[in-house]
Amino acid sequence: MDKIVVDRERCGGLGVCESLAGAYFETDDEGELVLLRDEVEPHDRDAVEEAVASCPTEALRVHRV
Ligand code: SF4
Repeated sequence: MDKIVVDRERCGGLGVCESLAGAYFETDDEGELVLLRDEVEPHDRDAVEEAVASCPTEALRVHRV
């Protein structure tokens, strides 16, 4: 199973991840990233990987557990 890990020190709350995989990522009114779920469904893997690759601050990782 793939699990999403957020480095909150790096996250700037820019919301690129939300625009690419909104079922997993949401930015709140304060610009804080809310991880809606951390276990990646197989059919969402491409969208999540695109979100991880597109994060401008490299704050996202996916780990296989
Ligand atoms: S794209 Fe990166 S910096 Fe922007 S909210 Fe998502 S994790 Fe944070």
